This record gives sequence, structure tokens and C-alpha cells, in this order.
Amino acid sequence: MSLHASLSGMTGFVADVVMFTNIPKVLSYAVPPGLSPVVGSRVVAPVRNTRQVGVVIAVGQSRDDDLSLKDIHAVLDESPLLTEELMKLLDWTARYYHAGIGPCMALAFPPFFRQGRTLVRDEDPFLKRKACDHGRLGSAQQALLDGIPVEGILMSELRGRFPGSAARIRALLAKGLLEVGEREPGPGRCLPPPPAYSADQTKAIEEIAAAVGTGTFHSFVLHGITGSGKTEVYLAAANEALRRGRSVLYLVPEIALTSQTIAMVKGRIPYEVAVFHSGLPEKDRAREFMKVVRDGARFVLGTRSAVFSPLRDIGLIVVDEEHDHSYKQDDGVPYNARDLGIVRATNNKACVILGSATPSMETHERARSGRDRLLAMTSRIGPAALPEVEIVDMRTIRGPLSEPLVTEMAATLDRNEQVLLFINRRGFSAALVCPGCGKVLRCLRCDRSLTYHRSKGEALCHWCGFTMRLPEICPSCGCLDMRPVGLGTERVLTEVQKAFPDSRLLRMDSDEMTTTRKLTAALDAIRSGSVDIIVGTQMIAKGHDFPHLTLVGVVHAEQLLYMPDFRSGERTFQQIVQVAGRAGRRKADTKVVIQTLIPEHPLMEAILRHDYEAMMLQELEIRKATGFPPYVHLARCVVSADEEGTARMIAVKLAASATVPQVEVMGPAPAPISLLRNRHRWHLVLRSRRRGSLHRALDAMERVKVTGDADLRIDVDPYSMM
Ligand code: ADP
Ligand code: ZN
Repeated sequence: MSLHASLSGMTGFVADVVMFTNIPKVLSYAVPPGLSPVVGSRVVAPVRNTRQVGVVIAVGQSRDDDLSLKDIHAVLDESPLLTEELMKLLDWTARYYHAGIGPCMALAFPPFFRQGRTLVRDEDPFLKRKACDHGRLGSAQQALLDGIPVEGILMSELRGRFPGSAARIRALLAKGLLEVGEREPGPGRCLPPPPAYSADQTKAIEEIAAAVGTGTFHSFVLHGITGSGKTEVYLAAANEALRRGRSVLYLVPEIALTSQTIAMVKGRIPYEVAVFHSGLPEKDRAREFMKVVRDGARFVLGTRSAVFSPLRDIGLIVVDEEHDHSYKQDDGVPYNARDLGIVRATNNKACVILGSATPSMETHERARSGRDRLLAMTSRIGPAALPEVEIVDMRTIRGPLSEPLVTEMAATLDRNEQVLLFINRRGFSAALVCPGCGKVLRCLRCDRSLTYHRSKGEALCHWCGFTMRLPEICPSCGCLDMRPVGLGTERVLTEVQKAFPDSRLLRMDSDEMTTTRKLTAALDAIRSGSVDIIVGTQMIAKGHDFPHLTLVGVVHAEQLLYMPDFRSGERTFQQIVQVAGRAGRRKADTKVVIQTLIPEHPLMEAILRHDYEAMMLQELEIRKATGFPPYVHLARCVVSADEEGTARMIAVKLAASATVPQVEVMGPAPAPISLLRNRHRWHLVLRSRRRGSLHRALDAMERVKVTGDADLRIDVDPYSMM
């Protein structure tokens, strides 16, 4: 079959279709007269007695044995939405992650398109001013007209800037002062020039720009301390690729894609920028997608799934904060956008930049072994140095705030500067314990203690969302006095309120920041100086630049360290360095106070000295001794079932099937989370130095029948070991 066949009104053709649902096979359909499906476009076709939406992956001449095929019902797109290059990447993703081709293809489409809907072309016209004399306009109409840039604007964007302006736009169109026109793909806009680059920046930009100029694959690790100005390097490299007529994919972690980030990028890229973000309304996501497919936008700024954006001829891929775990998808297809970014750059003969202040161990290893070129940026922009770090021993201190921290906080507030307290758990306390029987209040569906959320008067399971009113008495023994233990953001906030009753507080965690709008408003409030103390989770640790912030307190440094996860040391270090990096980006006299129960731990020493290499060497030793990545490759299989016996039995069978030389099977054993949403879970972990062997073992496991109510989930290069 030809991948290129495009036909109109002919009979005797067959289309191969991948449905977006989890149907393991590619389905073939007859193409009825009058329909002309093309590869990469969506169709509606019958599956048993339903109609489903899928994407055409091949079209070809039918053979005699194709006579019994059912007909396609409808073709949804006249021209392809996906390119061949992207479809190959999606196919590769399905094979690498041992996932269904349907769910993988679906990753490339915004939900609006997955559901079989289409955008009407002139639904969102591109509006331009018509240069002509006009009489006096009402002030509102005049303001609207003045607000339209010379190069024109999308109706949706104009209405976003001028809420409630639909009638005025219609009026201006009717008067002939506005017209619907074609968009000219940049560089239409004049933007302010970049700042004078630092020596580190200049060197990095020169190297990357030269590599972009060669039109071949190059990979860079940009290891720059917080505040060293990595963003300018990405933007300069991006403009270089755009100038050469190629496209740019710019990936940021989930939480970092705020309207502030979007405005900053749009202010520096003189071309059309499409934003791919799951937080946008469905129709907007579809529009941004069509900006690339239909309007030829060559710059995509987006989160994880933007790695599958339909850009053509990519010349540069930026992965900002490459160590961030949000690049790995936890549910659905367990892909890692950073890793796929490297694959996609290779396929496109493009450059890829993996940037971070705390590169992941995998990336560090790529740079060390010479696979990636390491570019280091070791000094901060401007006068600010890295903040001074103080470690406070909490072993003899009661309560969440130590005296050294409170003293520093008071001094900072006296100077009218801001304080940030970092605590990695939302809610009031980690758990509720009955002092009578010692029992912890647990989720009824998961093997996990419930977190007490005092502001809501509820106990909440952070895994499944189960909530219950706080019981007046212990459900086990009837004792009257359930007590909170362990710290959460709410509890810290309460203590801060007691110590600093006159200061303005802001809590930033996923309970508070439920919408993008709230997050944007909070970030603006911090930047404008209208809050004094911020108490937050990892949500605040990433990428943000807060000019008035001069003190960072880490309330409980070892919180992550003792999780059953081989990355816990690395993650602890990364998180603390990232959050510490929020301080002192503008002012010189800044400080970080870290409270911990393990002040002598080598990790704390490394943090004290801002010594990334020391931390890496320690961790690498541990990984080498225990046999974990980057020294080996891992895959993890989780079986879940209603009965524990079923889960165990299947896990044992899977383990027995995976007998491939050079692959070690660890387990089977109950997963650390052995009960989740009422499902019992067993897991096994495969380990090998050879990827090929690992994939063969997974292939063998996939042939094992997983029957009844049991589910098998395979995760390649897993992050969560829970
Ligand atoms: P990083 O991502 O490396 O932590 P950023 O890219 O956020 O650092 O840069 C830190 C701050 O320095 C930002 O406010 C940025 O606008 C500013 N900055 C970057 N480069 C320069 C430069 N060459 N001159 C002046 N300011 C700069
Ligand atoms: Zn639960």
C-alpha cells in the first residue's frame, strides 16, 4: 500500500484506519465512491455496532479478499492533520512503550478532534484594519480599532483582549474599517532587541546556532545554575532556527506554562506562536492546533503532549527543566516527552537542548559519556550571587518553624521583602492518628492514610480523591481524640499566621490553585509585592522569577527522601535546589534556611555547598552498587485485580514468561501501593543492560493471557515505583 495515495471519487480502494480507542488492530475499510480519505486525516467508520473516529494510516488498491470490508462512513478532514514524520513517531512510541497504537495516535490530537468534531474555517477569521479615512467613531469602537496590530489578529484573540466586543467588531466590519484577510506568516513584528548577553550565554548561543546551521542532529545539555539566563539561550537558538525557515518546539513543565511565560515568549519571537496546553478550553486547543496545520505557524510552546504537535521540518527542540517529572505521563501511554524530544530531533535532523539547573541522572550520564555536548553556565546574571544556605537541625525542635527561620523571616519582612516557605504536602497534616488505639485513619479503597484538610473539615485520600467528614470518634476504638501528625501546607500556614499576624499570606498548592486564572493571579500578586509570605508545594519551585523574594525556607527537607523509589535522593536534591533558586535572583543579600532531621546526611552537605557534582557522584555510586538507571534499563509491570489472589497468580505467570537472557526479573511482589481504588496490585520490575533484551521479555509477557477482571500495565523507563 502506498502512504501517499490520495484519491477522489474512485472505487476499489481500501483505507487502513487506527481508531482512537484501545483496539489493538489496524482496521481496514472499503472507500465508497465519493469519499477521498488521505493518510493523516480522520474518518468515521463502523466498529461492531458503534461508530468510531480514527486516523487513516494507509490507502491502497483493494484486492479480491477485501470484498467483505465495511464502508467508511465519513471523511472528516480534506487534508491531513498529521504528517508522515509524526505518524512514524507515534508508531515508534507505541512499540517502544508497548502501548496500543490507537491511544498513541490519539496523543497527537486535541480532544475536540478526537471526538470527531471539526472547526469551521471562518469561525475564527483573521481580521485586518483597512487603511481608509473614516469619520468619527465612538470611543469604544476607536479603542478597539487602535487595539488591532498592523499585521492583523484572530477574532478570538481580539475578543479575548476586548471582552464583550462582538457587536463592535461586527459594526467595524460593516463600516468597512475591518476586513477578513489572510495571515502572513512572520517575521511581521518588530520586537525589542535581546539584552546584552553574558559571556556564558554568548558561548552557548554561538555553539548551538552553529549546530542549527549544519542541518544535522546535535544534542546539547545546557546545565546552567538557577538565574543564569537559560531562557535567553533557548530564544536565541529558536530565532536562529526560525530564520532558517525551520520550526521550533519549545517544551516546558506543566506548571511553568502560565500566561506570564506565554507573554514572555510571544514578546521575543517575531513569528506566530501556537500554545499547546491541556489547561486551555477544548476549542482553543483545537484552534492552536490548526494554527500549525492550516496557518503554517512554526513555533509551538507547550507542555508534555506538545512533543506530538504537527510541526513540519523541526530544526530545534527545547526541553526546559528537562529533569521535571511532568514530562513523564503517569497514566495512559507512559511516554516521556524529553526522551521522545530527542528521538524526534534525530528524525528531523534537528538540534535538541536539554536545559536544567539540576539535570537528571540520565541526562548527566549522556553528557558525561559524550553523547550530548555539555554547555555549562556557572554564574548568575547581574549582581546576584547564589544565596547563602543555612542548615537547621530539627531533631530537638518542636513545631514546624525553628527559631533561626523565624528570626530570618522577621528580618526579611522588616526590609519589606518576601519569604517563601516550601513544604511538599498539601493539606493540614500527613495523617490522623488515634492516641487510644494507635490506628491511623485510612482510605477505604486504597492502602493509604487520609490527609487531614482542616479548612474543609475533611479527610482526603491524595491517591483516589476519596473524602470523608472528619470522624468525631475513632472508627476503630471509639476514642474521642483523633490527632493530626506530620505537616502539610495548611498547618504551616496556621503557624505562620500565629507568628506573623500582620503579614499578608498566600498559600499555593493544588487545593488553592485550582484554575490557571488563580495561578496567574497569584504569580502576579507575588511579583507586584502584594503578599509577604508564600507557603507552597512544588508548584512554586519551578521556573518562576520573583523579584522581591529574598528568603526561602524549606520546612521539612527529608520529606521525599525515604520514599521507596530509587530516585528519591536525586529528587530531594533537585527540589531543594530549584526552590532555593527562587531566592535572590535580583538582590544580592539573600538566604535559604533548610530545616532537617538529618543535617549530617551527605545530600544536605551537597546542598549547603551548591555542589551538584558531589550529589551526582554519591548518587551514581548508589545506583551502580544497587543496579539502577542510568547503569541499567528498567521496565515495570503492574497487575491489578479485584482479588489479591488473581493479581498474584498473573504476576507469577508473567514473571515465568519473561525468561530472556540478560534480563533480570525482580519480584513478583505486592506493589508498594498494594491497594488502589479497591484494586489489589502486584508488580514486577525487569532490569537489563540491553534494551533489545528488555523489549523481548516484554513481548513475551504481552503474550500471557491476562484474564477476567485483571489488568496489566507495562511501564518502560518507569518513574513511579509505587
Ligand atoms: P534560568 O532559567 O537560567 O534560571 P532565566 O532565564 O529565568 O534564568 O533568567 C533569569 C533572569 O535574568 C530573568 O529575569 C531574565 O530576564 C534575566 N536575564 C537573562 N539574561 C540576561 C542578560 N543577558 N541581561 C540581563 N538580564 C538577563
Ligand atoms: Zn483512596
